[in-house]
Amino acid sequence: MRRFNKELYIKFYDSCVPVIGANSGVIYDIQRGEIHFFPKILIEKLLETTKKNIKLKSIYNVFTETTPVLEEYIDYLINIELIFLTEYPENFVGLNTEFLQPFLLDVILLEIDILSEEKIKLIQRPDLYGCKELILITREEFQEHLFLDILKYLKGNKIQNIKLITKYSPSIKIENYLKIEPRLREILFYESPYFRKKESATYINNSLEAIMNRRIENIQDFAVNLHAFTESLNHNLFFNRKIYVNNNDKIKHYFSEKNGFEKLKENNLISIINKDSFKELWDISKDQIEICKDCEFRYICPDNRIPIKRKNRNIYFHKTKCNYNPYTTKWKT
Ligand code: SF4
Repeated sequence: MRRFNKELYIKFYDSCVPVIGANSGVIYDIQRGEIHFFPKILIEKLLETTKKNIKLKSIYNVFTETTPVLEEYIDYLINIELIFLTEYPENFVGLNTEFLQPFLLDVILLEIDILSEEKIKLIQRPDLYGCKELILITREEFQEHLFLDILKYLKGNKIQNIKLITKYSPSIKIENYLKIEPRLREILFYESPYFRKKESATYINNSLEAIMNRRIENIQDFAVNLHAFTESLNHNLFFNRKIYVNNNDKIKHYFSEKNGFEKLKENNLISIINKDSFKELWDISKDQIEICKDCEFRYICPDNRIPIKRKNRNIYFHKTKCNYNPYTTKWKT
C-alpha cells in the first residue's frame, strides 16, 4: 500500500464534484459523465478538508481505527483521478459554477396535429428566442402534408436539433424525411406493435402519456455534465428554459401541466415567459424540494414532476414518489 505524506492537502479535480445525500456520498465526474459512490462519512471529511484547506493528517485523526481502509480509499481516489495531493492548495481555485445563458429558451415542444398561423410563425423563427432544439409531437396519426409543411417553414432558421414524437404508422418512410432535413436527429414512434431501435428511429409500445411522464428510473437517466450541474444549482434542470405549446396554441411549461397560461398570440410569448408566475417553476432547484434536497443526485436529476409549494412556506414537495429513495439509497424494483 502506498504511504501518503500527511502534511499535504487534498484537492478534488475541478471536474469532480463531491455531493452528500441523506445516506450516501457521491462524486460526479462531470468531464467523463460518471458517478462514483463512497461512504458518506468519507465524502463529508474530504469536503471538510478541502473547503477549510486542512492537511491530510486531519482525516487520519478521524479514521484512527480504520487507517488501512482510509488509505485504500485515498489510493483509489487518486488512481481514478478524482482527487490529488498538493503542497499548495491555494493555487487551485475550483470549478467555475456560473451558469451563463444569454438567450430566453433552450427547447420548444410543439404539438403539431393542428397548425395555426401563430404556430407557423413560431416554427419559422424559434431562434428569435435563442432556442436550439425543437421537439414536434403528434397526438393523432401522423399527417405527412403537415410535417412536410413544417420542414419547409423550418428552412433557414438556426435550430440545431429536431426531434419528432409521433404515433406509430407503418406507412411513414423515415429515410425520406432524414434526407430532406438533416437536423431531424430522432424520431420516436409510440404505440408501436413492436420494440425496435434503428439509427435515428425508435419504436416503442408505450402511450404518449407514458413517454412524456416517464420518471427517473435508474442512474442512466441522470445528466452528468457541466451544463446540467451548473444549471441545477439555481434552476430546475428539467423545466428551465423550456416551453410547451399544445394543439390549441396554449402555452404551458410541459405536457403534464393541466391549465397552462395564455394562448400564443401576436408577440406575446416573451411577455408570458417573463411573468414571475411562469418563471417560478424554472427557478425551483432540487435544493428547494422536500426529499430531493436530501438526495445525492440532486444536481444532475432531470426529474419531470411539477413541484407544489407548501402553504406559507418556501419549500416545495411532490405528490408522487420518486423511484429512488435517498434515505435508504434503494431504487424501486
Ligand atoms: S429523489 Fe429527487 S433528486 Fe433524487 S432521484 Fe428522485 S427526483 Fe431526482
